[in-house]
Amino acid sequence: MTRKKKKRDITTGSQAKSKNQPHCGLCGKTTNLTKTECCGNWICDDEDQYVLFSYARNSCYRNHRRYTLCGYHHAEGHAGDWKDCPQCKEDIEMEMYVYYGTNEYNFEKLKNPPAYEPTKCSKCGAVIVLSEDRYSTRGRECWCEECTNAELPYFTH
Ligand SMILES: [Zn+2]
Ligand SMILES: [Zn+2]
Ligand SMILES: [Zn+2]
Ligand SMILES: [Zn+2]
Repeated sequence: MTRKKKKRDITTGSQAKSKNQPHCGLCGKTTNLTKTECCGNWICDDEDQYVLFSYARNSCYRNHRRYTLCGYHHAEGHAGDWKDCPQCKEDIEMEMYVYYGTNEYNFEKLKNPPAYEPTKCSKCGAVIVLSEDRYSTRGRECWCEECTNAELPYFTH
């Protein structure tokens, strides 16, 4: 068996086609797509499914626009690439900056997210995860949900 000659390597058209089929870069869906304004990636055109004030995070389009540095950077009209934009870093609390740059709503994540001090409740010292927990702020203070509820009577009604 000395059939080591050259193989024909013409990629079939159908193969290339299915590979390049547009799909949402976040969830992989292939229907009802649009392109993001900020970075031109395919994404679900699902913002109209969002229920106002529900705080649901089920819209790929909205999640990318609202919860990523890419979306923020674009909305604020910053120059250059969001990954090395000094203005984004300055504007956003470091913990949220890292979250916005590394969460699952990104097509491309921040490679070397900066280290940050965890946010702690100014009253009881409990660590508050800004991206997940409920909390309230008063000036420079940050209060966890429990302390907020204990202090504000209308929360407990
Ligand atoms: Zn999607
Ligand atoms: Zn984007
Ligand atoms: Zn920016
Ligand atoms: Zn507290």
